[in-house]
Amino acid sequence: MVHNFISKEENRINIIYNELKNLASSLGCIALENEPMKFHTSFKVGGNARLFIYIKNYKCLDLILEFIKKHELPYFVLGKGTNLLVADSGYDGVVLSLLKSENNKLDLVSKDTISCTAGLSLAKVCVFAMKNNLSGLEFAWGIPGSCGGALYMNAGAYGQDISNVVLEADHIDAAGNIHTLQAKDMQLSYRKSYYSDKNLIILSMKFKLTPSSEKEIKYKMFENMKKRKLKQPLEFPNAGSIFKRPIGGYYTGALIEACNLKGFSIGGAMVSPKHAGFIVNTGDATASDIANLIKHIKESVRNNSGVELECEIKTLGDIKI
Ligand SMILES: Cc1cc2nc3c(=O)[nH]c(=O)nc-3n(C[C@H](O)[C@H](O)[C@H](O)COP(=O)(O)OP(=O)(O)OC[C@H]3O[C@@H](n4cnc5c(N)ncnc54)[C@H](O)[C@@H]3O)c2cc1C
Repeated sequence: MVHNFISKEENRINIIYNELKNLASSLGCIALENEPMKFHTSFKVGGNARLFIYIKNYKCLDLILEFIKKHELPYFVLGKGTNLLVADSGYDGVVLSLLKSENNKLDLVSKDTISCTAGLSLAKVCVFAMKNNLSGLEFAWGIPGSCGGALYMNAGAYGQDISNVVLEADHIDAAGNIHTLQAKDMQLSYRKSYYSDKNLIILSMKFKLTPSSEKEIKYKMFENMKKRKLKQPLEFPNAGSIFKRPIGGYYTGALIEACNLKGFSIGGAMVSPKHAGFIVNTGDATASDIANLIKHIKESVRNNSGVELECEIKTLGDIKI
């Protein structure tokens, strides 16, 4: 006879997660147990999240955070998962998503200012700005994340980033208190912000833009997208640039190419032959394949040029890059 021994502690934790699942469901949220994170990341890899909750509205978020705090559960706020590598062993905690929140909305609050919620896609906000003849977000056209993820990362392209347009933002802390930060207090720098590694939940933000014409804005967006399609391996699952641009005027792609790593693979993870700064999932990559490839690239570049590459992408779960 095979016995399945569960320790008292495991049993206690199981009961807590079950209670949270029931609480979330009773509040109208979608709560998914053992949800594969590969369904929620652009890399299309990652094991299961113990509990994945699509937050229905701010009231639910408040109550769920209260429960999480009371029971000291680990949690993670997910945007669109386009800058994220989740471990093959998954995440033993609660993943919160604002993507399906009924609070998600987009408004023109004055002649040059847009407000939007964190769970909306950046693409939607770019189109809204264009339709309202407001320029400033063209650089973001083609960045596939959510607004929350974009502010957290201070996402950018073509010499501009979120810091050029953000005015203020609201976030909720782990204790359930809501705060408003002005742009000057967000510590926005290259792919970094005040929110980095703090587990705060960005709820909404305002962008201050410049009046222009829809036609001109559309043209800039079109040109930016054309450049992306030409340079980036958009035909394969990926997470954008893996590494930050190194200090000292180096280009990541060139440093990796100099190591003859274009097209180099570990398992199903490959250095994109189109852009060496990207790793693509050729079909059956695991998170470990990607992590091992990242380590190999870092080591090769260090040995070849003495430059220490730093990762731009974030990780979740038991994985080191
Ligand atoms: C094809 C491709 C092209 C890309 N091009 C660019 C580019 O040009 N420039 C660029 O900067 N990036 C680029 N990226 C990377 C990525 O799209 C951005 O970093 C984006 O801002 C991440 O947003 P996300 O919603 O997907 O965040 P996620 O990947 O879900 O999360 C990233 C981090 O943000 C945090 N986060 C997400 N939402 C919230 C929230 N509401 N509150 C608090 N924290 C939150 C997460 O906890 C995590 O730490 C690209 C990615 C791909 C796949």
